[in-house]
Parts: sequence; structure tokens; C-alpha cells
Amino acid sequence: MPTTTYRTKAFIDAALKLGVEVVAASEQPSTMAAKNPAGLLALNFFEPEKAGSEAAQFARQFPIDAVIPVDEDTAVVAAAVARALKLDHNSIESTRAAKNKYLMREALNRAGVRVPRYHHFSLDDDLPEIGKQISYPCVVKPVFLSTSRGVMRVDNEAEFLQAVERLERIIEKKDVARRGGAAARLALAEEFIQGKEVAVEGLVSDGDLRVLAIFDKPDPLDGPFFEETIYVTPSRLAESVRREIEETAAAAVRAMGLTRGPVHAELRVNDRGAWVIEVAARAIGGLCSRALRFGQGVSLEEMILRHALGEDTTALEREPLAAGVMMIPVPRAGVLKEVIGLEEAKRISNIEDVIITSHITQQITPPPEGASYLGFIFSRAASPDDVEAALREAHNRLRFVIE
Ligand code: ADP
Ligand code: CA
Ligand code: CA
Repeated sequence: MPTTTYRTKAFIDAALKLGVEVVAASEQPSTMAAKNPAGLLALNFFEPEKAGSEAAQFARQFPIDAVIPVDEDTAVVAAAVARALKLDHNSIESTRAAKNKYLMREALNRAGVRVPRYHHFSLDDDLPEIGKQISYPCVVKPVFLSTSRGVMRVDNEAEFLQAVERLERIIEKKDVARRGGAAARLALAEEFIQGKEVAVEGLVSDGDLRVLAIFDKPDPLDGPFFEETIYVTPSRLAESVRREIEETAAAAVRAMGLTRGPVHAELRVNDRGAWVIEVAARAIGGLCSRALRFGQGVSLEEMILRHALGEDTTALEREPLAAGVMMIPVPRAGVLKEVIGLEEAKRISNIEDVIITSHITQQITPPPEGASYLGFIFSRAASPDDVEAALREAHNRLRFVIE
């Protein structure tokens, strides 16, 4: 787990509940490592092979039964570690495809899974010429980033040139350039797919996808930027459409060669069918997993742990209530000074919790440059409509003072 992840607590809580011992592998040595040598391990996430052999060394003293990637950045290294430990694992190639939007498009396209037309290019290419070749509207995106960072809709040549210039400035940032490595300057220009967007949460066993939940994303995502907001489950789409979404997501998982563990997929649906936007080899991000509960109070992380340890989790279904989360968007760039209305928002009926994750004095930035939310609002209710209404009402009570 990256040291910066929000996901630690949910996994540790699940492990405690199950009585599963955890080794937390992070990219930086922990100051606690000397006190807990069996539970903490530093691995270089940028060198999966080396991380694998170091983990194998470690496992001689402290045996390991399963490896779980907690975030997008650790899916490749987790596969390399599991391979070094001779445990069942996703192929390195499949996890690389899940992290690189170009490799993903290629794998899906080869297998005949419906994806937008795409043009792969480098920021060093003749961009005015590319701007003439591609069709509009399209979506420009770097191949390696996440959370909609650098993702921009463009409607004509002039906008294309502005977007690639903006992308150039985004990838110049030091943390971004390091993550991108050799792929940092590579990008896609994709056909813009009109339609409704959903997210699919699932678990893969032997290459077969079991869908745990389909989330509707009821806010229009037409660009020019694509900040995530509301997720609501169960989906209100017609059953036949949901089936098509599940089948397409399963085909995408097979096409990419992912064989086990959690996946989080995004698709769009329109009258031409279901289209894969992307498939990540990890569970849903941030604190969003709190919207999911299975059986009697089983968290998504508990499902993932049990599944990784070879337990059959298919009898555990998502609870009967509708549920949802709002990733609170950043209204504008600046310094967060104050959050008003938090208690009031929490009191809205059907609202379970409102958590502000940005801290006061933090510099916050909306997409396409930024990559975080102000916080999360959670709701449970009898119907998806009630959930959506509660999320919107709670959000309306919040005011963010940004200077
Ligand atoms: P990230 O990995 O940063 O989340 P995505 O490729 O998922 O990048 O793009 C982020 C969002 O941008 C998607 O959820 C979707 O709303 C929008 N988007 C991306 N590609 C397309 C496309 N080809 N057509 C329409 N919308 C798209
Ligand atoms: Ca992604
Ligand atoms: Ca995405």
C-alpha cells in the first residue's frame, strides 16, 4: 500500500476482524519497522522484479499466503511479488495493461471488445498534424495517470492544441513525471463516447468476473473535464442493459488477461451498446468502498481478503438497501480555509456520514490538474433515488471557503 493511500484502515479493520495477519508493504521504510519486523516491509514500487526478490527473502522468515494490491500504483508490483512467492497471480503483462490506457485499448481492441476509436501519440510528435488527422469531439488523456488527471474533452483542432499544451504542463510536475517513467509523454486521443456512465466493482477468479455491484454515475460527464461525483447502487438501468454491462466487463477482464483479485471498471452505455472506458486491477478508490456492504456487515475489503485466501465468497451478496457515495468535487483552485455546514449535512435524513479529507490550509485543485476530492458523503436508503437525493441535499448544505 502506498504511504499516501486512504485505503489502509479499511483493509486493516477487515484483517483484524478475520484474524488475518498483515504485512504492510510500502514504498518507504516505516519508522515502526524495527518494532514490527513481521508486519512492515519497504519495497520499491518502481522496480517490481527487485521488489519480488526482496519479498521472497522476507517470506522465508515470515511466510505469506496472499498478496493484495491496495491501489492503482501497486497492482504491477503486487503481481511481481506474488509471482516471486509462487502464489497465484495476475500476469505482470495484464496488470501493466490495466495501468496503461494505450496497452489496455490494444488488448481490448484485439479481442473485439467495444472501445472508442483511439489515436496513440507522443507529446513530441507533430501535434498540429495530429490535430488535423483525428476526429472530433474526442478525449485527450495521458496513458498513465488516474482520477481524471489530464483527461480533457476537445471539440476542434484549436482545443486539441490547447489541451496538449495543458497536458504538457501537468506531466512536467515532478511527482507526475516520476510515475509516468517512459510512458510519461504518451497520450491518447479517443472518440468521445456519448452516454450514461457506470462503474463496476468485481472479483475475478480464474479469469471469471463476478460483479459485486454496478454503480450509476447520475451526474452528466460530458466534459470538458471529468471530475467524479455521485455513485449510486443498485443501478437503475434496465436489466438488459445491466446484463450487457456485466458481459462487456467480463469480456474486458478476459481480454486483458486479468485472472484474479479485485477489479474496478468504468463503462459507458448508449444505443450502440456498452463501451469500456477502463478496467483497473484494484478495488474502488478513496473511501468509496464504505458504500458497499455484503451479507451481514461484510466490507468490500473483507470480501477481497477472504477471496485472496481462497474462500468461496459467492454466497455473500450486496445488502438489500440502496447505497451511494459522493466524492465532493473541488469547486475551484485555491487554499481551503473553512468548511461550513458539516454538522447540518450529516443530519440530512438517509445520510450516514460526511467526511472531509482535505485539510484546512491545503492547496486544492480541480481536474484536469488536480487529483483529489474535498471529501466523501455516504448515504443508505430504501431506493437509489432516495440515496441520490440525500447526497445532493447534504452537498447543498456544505460550503467551502477557498482563497
Ligand atoms: P482515469 O484513469 O484518470 O480515471 P479515464 O480514462 O477513466 O481516466 O477517464 C476519466 C473519465 O473521463 C471517464 O470516467 C469518463 O467520464 C471520461 N472519459 C474518458 N474517456 C472517454 C471517452 N472516450 N468518451 C467519453 N468519456 C470519456
Ligand atoms: Ca484509471
Ligand atoms: Ca477512470
